[in-house]
Amino acid sequence: MASEKEIKEIYENGMNILEDLTNNVQEIQEQVLEEILKSNAGTEYLSRFFPNGEADNQSFKTNVPIITYEDIKPYIDRIANGETSSILLAYRIIQFLLSTGTSGGQPKLIPMTAESFEKRMSDLLLSDLVTRKCFSGSDEGKSLYLYFIKPEMETPSGLKASFFTTFYFKTESFKNGLAKFFTSPIDTILCLDNKQSMFCQLLTGLLQRDEVVRFGSTFASVLARTIKFLEDYWRELCCNIRTGYISDWIIDPGCKNAMSLILTRPNPELADSIQQICEDKSWEGIIVKLWPNIKYIHCIITGSMSQYVSLLEFYGGGIPLVSPIYNSSESSFGINLKPLSKPFDVSYTFLPNTAYFEFLPVGKDGEGKTQETWTDDEPVDLANVKLGRYYEVVVTTLAGLYRYRVGDVLKVTGFRNKSPQFQFVERRNVVLSIDVDKTTEEDLSKAIMKAKLILEPLGIMLTTCSSYADTSLTPGRYVLFWELKMKGRNDLPKLDAKIMEQCCCIVEESFDFTYKSHRKGGAISALELRVVKHGTFDELMDFYVSKGVSVAQYKPPSCLKSEEAVKILNSGMVGKFFSPKTMF
Ligand code: AMP
Repeated sequence: MASEKEIKEIYENGMNILEDLTNNVQEIQEQVLEEILKSNAGTEYLSRFFPNGEADNQSFKTNVPIITYEDIKPYIDRIANGETSSILLAYRIIQFLLSTGTSGGQPKLIPMTAESFEKRMSDLLLSDLVTRKCFSGSDEGKSLYLYFIKPEMETPSGLKASFFTTFYFKTESFKNGLAKFFTSPIDTILCLDNKQSMFCQLLTGLLQRDEVVRFGSTFASVLARTIKFLEDYWRELCCNIRTGYISDWIIDPGCKNAMSLILTRPNPELADSIQQICEDKSWEGIIVKLWPNIKYIHCIITGSMSQYVSLLEFYGGGIPLVSPIYNSSESSFGINLKPLSKPFDVSYTFLPNTAYFEFLPVGKDGEGKTQETWTDDEPVDLANVKLGRYYEVVVTTLAGLYRYRVGDVLKVTGFRNKSPQFQFVERRNVVLSIDVDKTTEEDLSKAIMKAKLILEPLGIMLTTCSSYADTSLTPGRYVLFWELKMKGRNDLPKLDAKIMEQCCCIVEESFDFTYKSHRKGGAISALELRVVKHGTFDELMDFYVSKGVSVAQYKPPSCLKSEEAVKILNSGMVGKFFSPKTMF
């Protein structure tokens, strides 16, 4: 695990480390691959591809196939069931990580070693360093970071499996490192009941409101949920502060104990000022009003999280949103070296010492739509990707993944020294599909961005959205779910049918040629927009959390595949609208 000495080294010398890494991309990548082959070429999985025993970098690229999780799953299952992990990797597995991407409904299990954890830690620390350097004075105060955990599971072999966040928050390096700068006592983060945890974390954050200089979480979706929680609970939080007593329903021993050390006396003055702020009709800028010394909001806001950008800009009162890192259970990928970039310009610089990266070129058709990735196209090395091109990332790690397709599509937007910077474009397997039409996550998100613009001047905010392909009738149609609310208030907006239909039209118009021609030919019905009431998407999140997903790693699905999930959103429906039948 990263020792205090290593952490100190990164904080003291981090900028030089970054210069070195980004200047020597090709050399470091070659070394990383050599090291992986040196230790793992003899495993049952890899040795098949080196029949004459020569496992050099070139024969790796020629012989080892590019795979997905399903190809490696039999090995993972064998290890989870008790066989030695040396069938796949040489280093000892300390536990499995659970990924939110599912394989046949089950989270994927990804091996983690002490070494792979350290690499992640060093990327996290470098990213933290770069962000702090950007904001003077942010070193001094505290972070109000809303973090949550989920119970671990145990595989038949006795190896544990948990989400990375859960593992990380339980480590000594977290407890003795970053956690020291947090307002949340560690026991409130480690509480398994998310509601008690959220209440106590917000309460401690409010009690220390003048010291808070950073507000954040893992993903933007968690902060959207936090704001909703604050709307529902601010009165009770104020009451606790006023009386100096914690609510009766906080029964988790860790939380109770931690709160008894912080909530030590009645503080009516503080309660009054918080109450005054929260009673204000408009909650615009509520985050900076409650925590006046905040310098930035820190959470991932790219990819499927971009739907929360306007919400966070509104409640954050315009303070910078910093999207720090791009990583997954499989590997860390890149960090944001320009923390002040606007949300839609954020790029992540890949660090070449993290893993061995390859990139499958992804074609775009004349309309800019992503085409199939062909694995027989030559993958390109990290040092050889081209500016402006799209790629699917393929990763090889010391922890048992070899030429593994992560499923994310990225675009090269620039270089820091010799290291490419990528914008996250979309998840490859997230598509709405009817017949031969395939509408990707990127198509959808671009279309929705355009359509929601006509709601903004009316003071209506799209807080979150999803979709599904309704094929219960023929022809099928795409259905969008939008959660709408008035800016700064929780009231349901008055929905003008003409305007909502116009939103449907804008979405359909921005879809590609294939969609439009199918729609025109009658193979796809008019798009439907279902508006759901405020809070409905929280129920969807609760549903996925009850199925085992961690709040800290939850990503709202852009396209729903589960009937139960569609049912939950339908139950909050307050209006439905269609594109005109004869639009095309
Ligand atoms: P998980 O393995 O559950 O941590 O999920 C990893 C996935 O989350 C990645 O493969 C991406 O699709 C998504 N993700 C992680 N970081 C980012 C980011 N900075 N921007 C957009 N998507 C991200």
